[in-house]
Amino acid sequence: MAGSLRIAIVGAGMGGLATAAALRRVGIEVAVYEQATQFARIGAGIQIGCNAMKVLRELGLERRLRAQSFYPRSWNNRDWRTGEIKFDMIFGESAERKFGAPYLLAHRGDLHAALATAVPEECVKLGHKLVGLDEVGDSIRLRFANGATALADAVVGADGVHSLVREILFGTSPVNFTGRIAYRTTYPAALLGGERIDDCTKWWGEDRHIVIYYVKPDRSEVYFVTSQPEPEFRIESWSAKGDVRQLRAAFKGFDPRVENVLAACPDVHKWAIVDRDALPRWAERNVTLLGDACHPMMPYMAQGAAMAIEDAAVLSRCLEGVEPDGVANAFRRFEASRRDRTSRVQETSRTNTWLKEKTDADWVYAYDAWTVPLAG
Ligand code: FAD
Repeated sequence: MAGSLRIAIVGAGMGGLATAAALRRVGIEVAVYEQATQFARIGAGIQIGCNAMKVLRELGLERRLRAQSFYPRSWNNRDWRTGEIKFDMIFGESAERKFGAPYLLAHRGDLHAALATAVPEECVKLGHKLVGLDEVGDSIRLRFANGATALADAVVGADGVHSLVREILFGTSPVNFTGRIAYRTTYPAALLGGERIDDCTKWWGEDRHIVIYYVKPDRSEVYFVTSQPEPEFRIESWSAKGDVRQLRAAFKGFDPRVENVLAACPDVHKWAIVDRDALPRWAERNVTLLGDACHPMMPYMAQGAAMAIEDAAVLSRCLEGVEPDGVANAFRRFEASRRDRTSRVQETSRTNTWLKEKTDADWVYAYDAWTVPLAG
């Protein structure tokens, strides 16, 4: 009976929570183990592609996300200095009709909080840092740093780019430091002193860029994220601070609209951008990886979380109605159904050319994880 499957999910990020919600939808019992003792509201924006929104709609989150997020007319791409438009990727209602769901710009904390409402609180165990996995008969025992243990029929490692589950399955391998860093922050639009910004613009420089957009429906909060070379910097933490003056100096000479956004910015975070090559395998018997744990990517298509959210829907379809002894096959099917797409997005992200000029974006945004054919 499908209802008897117990699945442990490691990590309550975007991928872990979406997976918990999607598996519960098909009657699977889940427990999510998260190392953090509480959810922090990180000052960052996140683009929710139409493809991710189709998944989130089925998880019951569309109305909430529409109410809390910004609905941009487009993702515009401009030359850093002249402001000349290179390519304006139109979203809004026409894209919503074409792709079947809206494109939204959200505060990352709002998306994460929305996903958390789709999973009952008692299913999420905070303060549980996984330290080991053991096979016990047909089950798996999870061991945590706090001394607790738990048993499950199967484990989903949604524990991000530094995944311990991946290390346990396939051994350690260092991440690629790309030699580039990102500054990012959100701040009240009121600090712009009445200056209005475009809905969403990527300003393309020669060796650097900045993406600026609103994250609230009433345009009350602004977000930006940059990418520029700084090979010596290797701190990869969401909470490490950057120096606003250095940031402004790095974007000196950019269009005055960019300089204004940076001049008004009170505070900024900074971290090193990392990625990994596509993994040859994601699963080993009844343990699989999902999201950044198996396909982390450069942020240049704004699709990393969307890929984790799509994974959640496809995994739930592969596991629906499956008995514990069918999980290993279901995990292989999941990987076979998802690998080509996530590898293509990983590789395309790495080139940092997405939407820089007229681009066929249909293959990304039209994808529907609920209906796409599964591998045989
Ligand atoms: P994570 O979000 O990293 O979650 C992993 C979770 O696992 C964390 O909560 C962590 O605490 C927990 N964990 C780790 N180890 C353990 C352990 N041992 N035990 C228990 N818990 C553990 N994507 C988009 O779709 N749109 C965007 O606009 C976008 N912008 C981005 C901008 C930047 C600058 C960056 C860096 C990324 C961006 N992304 C975007 C990508 C997106 O942030 C990631 O792809 C996404 O967060 C991956 O989700 P995940 O659940 O796989 O991993």
